[in-house]
Amino acid sequence: MEMNSLDNTSALHAEVLVLGGGPGGYTAAFRAADLGKQVVIVERFPVLGGVCLNVGCIPSKALLHVAQVIHEAEAFSQHGVSFGKPEIDLDKIRSWKNSVTATLNDGLARLAKQRKITVVQGTGQFSSDKSLTVKSEHTEQTITFDQAIIAAGSQPTNIPSFPNDDPRLMNSTGALELTDIPRKLLIVGGGIIGLEMATVFHALGSEISVVELMDQLIPGCDNDLVTPLYRHVKKQYKNIWLSTRVKEITAQENGLNVVFEGKEAPESELFDKVLVAIGRKPNGLLIAAEKAGVNVDERGFIAVDKQQRTNIPHIFAIGDIAGNPMLAHKASYEGKIAAEVASGHKAGFDALTIPSVAYTDPEVAWMGLTENQAKQQGIEYNKASFPWAASGRSLSTGRKEGVTKLITDKTTGRILGAGIVGSHAGELIAETVLALEMGADAEDIGLTIHAHPSLSETVAFAAEMISGTITDLYIKKS
Ligand code: NAD
Repeated sequence: MEMNSLDNTSALHAEVLVLGGGPGGYTAAFRAADLGKQVVIVERFPVLGGVCLNVGCIPSKALLHVAQVIHEAEAFSQHGVSFGKPEIDLDKIRSWKNSVTATLNDGLARLAKQRKITVVQGTGQFSSDKSLTVKSEHTEQTITFDQAIIAAGSQPTNIPSFPNDDPRLMNSTGALELTDIPRKLLIVGGGIIGLEMATVFHALGSEISVVELMDQLIPGCDNDLVTPLYRHVKKQYKNIWLSTRVKEITAQENGLNVVFEGKEAPESELFDKVLVAIGRKPNGLLIAAEKAGVNVDERGFIAVDKQQRTNIPHIFAIGDIAGNPMLAHKASYEGKIAAEVASGHKAGFDALTIPSVAYTDPEVAWMGLTENQAKQQGIEYNKASFPWAASGRSLSTGRKEGVTKLITDKTTGRILGAGIVGSHAGELIAETVLALEMGADAEDIGLTIHAHPSLSETVAFAAEMISGTITDLYIKKS
């Protein structure tokens, strides 16, 4: 990508300035340009795409595909097809992963160029409510703007008392570099990043231990959806310690010594490497927002209204910096809204839900109201969980642990939430999101003809369980 070299200090003015070139920022920039605005993106990396494309969603999905191929090949030895032990060429895997990212980087550079967007490389900080100073290695430049969209993202949370400078202690960025395959790897945090990276390193041959503070993996998700994943990985990993805290990590010559506090964990154990994946923190405190008068809370979040406006009406904020959940698809959705409002259109955040997906094996995906939330909020609901052990499509891929769960409003019958665990859950959840957005009820889904045999049928079967018309299971009338 051609970036502005910054040795040219001539004044640059943007009708819409976008701070950050991740999925939120580039979407906002592209939409604003398409609506006729003259746009400048300021990005600290030499390429567009942000954390998601460069050190997050995309490289991790490439590595997860490697894991899937390894696992599927291995699993099929039971069914008459054996390939033998995989030979891992780490350099080749790494360059393939990097090539996927580079292809998308090039695509984004082209999309920016086609829209005549100026991309400035450097770290931006506000100098007033109408200007931003961009510093790069050798230069400093001030860009003035009419309106700005803050899309500066987030960074991994670390624990200050851990030996964070030791290369054996990794965050998600370090883990995705794939420098080696540690013999013994501890994952601190049984959330989405931790479990996705556990899937990758397990497939590549590491002995995995996971330590999670709460009493279940992926604590935001209903436990009945996490259980099939838990059972599957419990057989693969050496340890999964729940309700356990890491008290201390000390660097030793022969590894990282980790001290635990929890019922089942040992007092301490030595690991070759440790990955810390305990959440992310927004970058709101790093952009001198106060110079523009933009309010940032003590954690680094910037509050916005439904039009993504901060307290300063011509400055917007989107993505991780504007609040949870920190997901790329939330950022890009908000990016479009901010761009449209900045371009004088009537737009606002009115999505009913933001789906979540853990690309583990099996995948776990959920959207709308979880069952836990329905209970907490005293909402009367009906629920159905269709077991994939009764799905011909699932069985024919050698898997039977999946579940598709729907939650509907007891009075109106409308879909309130859904959760799916199983292969391709991340794809299948989309139908339920659309159903929620369209105000569909269980009958609407059950009466929609789904292809047979397909995993998508399980959504219709769960709906039929609610409307009482299912024939693929026998449910005794009470
Ligand atoms: P997370 O919030 O999903 O999980 C962090 C986990 O660490 C939680 O289960 C938490 O209980 C646990 N934890 C916190 N402190 C701990 C401690 N001291 N010891 C042990 N466990 C501890 O966060 P993440 O996995 O780091 O991901 C960060 C963000 O990135 C999230 O918002 C996530 O949704 C997003 N992300 C999304 C995807 C995806 O959409 N597939 C993939 C990766 C990351």
